[in-house]
Amino acid sequence: MDLTTLAQLILLILRNLNFKPRKHKLEDIAYAIAAYLLGVQVTKLGIPPSTLYYYTKKLGIKRRREEKPPCPSCNSNKVIKNGSSRGKAKYKCKTCGRTFYQTSNHKMSREQKERILNEYLNRASIRGIARVEGKPLTTVYSLIKRKGIEAYVNLLVLQEQLKSFTAKVTVIDESWTYLRVRHGPKRENLWIWNALADGLPFFTTGDRDYKTFSFLLNSLPKSEVNYTDDYSVYQVLDNHIASKKYTYTVESYNSYCRAHLARLARDTRAVNRSERMVDYSLALLNVMYPHVFSREKTPLNEAYWKGVQNIRENLI
Ligand SMILES: [Zn+2]
Repeated sequence: MDLTTLAQLILLILRNLNFKPRKHKLEDIAYAIAAYLLGVQVTKLGIPPSTLYYYTKKLGIKRRREEKPPCPSCNSNKVIKNGSSRGKAKYKCKTCGRTFYQTSNHKMSREQKERILNEYLNRASIRGIARVEGKPLTTVYSLIKRKGIEAYVNLLVLQEQLKSFTAKVTVIDESWTYLRVRHGPKRENLWIWNALADGLPFFTTGDRDYKTFSFLLNSLPKSEVNYTDDYSVYQVLDNHIASKKYTYTVESYNSYCRAHLARLARDTRAVNRSERMVDYSLALLNVMYPHVFSREKTPLNEAYWKGVQNIRENLI
């Protein structure tokens, strides 16, 4: 209700109750009460607080108490106002003693969530998305992380199911990206191991060593033939051919990843702070924009296609 309407309503009631104030006009008092009810400070109304309180009491109305937020630590409602800082009200919990600010509601609609994921998977940085969407960085970050973990876990489950198939051709390759660890060395290389089994992307991240490679190997279905470069770790593979014959397919997968994720492009300012976040982002990309890097349809890649569509539907 706006001020004028409320004031007129109050004026009507005051007249009805036959109030005849000596010092102030009834209209002024009605306006002051209305403004007070809408949250204006008592001292700024031009009517003495005692007069105002007298009439509000007579009217039997109370100013709506500002709702105090529950304590973020212990969820207690025993919260008192505790001054303010930078224009934000500060609260203190009487149960656990925590001081906190009232945080605004950062809930996002389903549409906005989907849009944020799509922006992220089309080379927008998390900072950029936060600015454009008008949401705090942490809110955007945690949405992407949460959905990324969901995609990652579901992909691992799907990969387990796909082990009952045998791939015709698997191509494996390593590429690198920057990793900048806070408080750590300035810049590290993070290795991304990619495999395409009948054109299906499999990946793992870590060092360029056997340990990381074996993690990828464990996620792959058996293959009739494995194409790799001549890096020594690949010697453990059965049906192994060291040849560049199919390297171009992995290269096209790499460029697909770089085209979609700002964090993987080497020419942007976006950097990876966390190795896990690279995993989650790649999983999210594979689920949200599924792509099979092979023209040939095999039982394996058809099963994958169905599975990944299913994950995508449940994700958003
Ligand atoms: Zn508390």
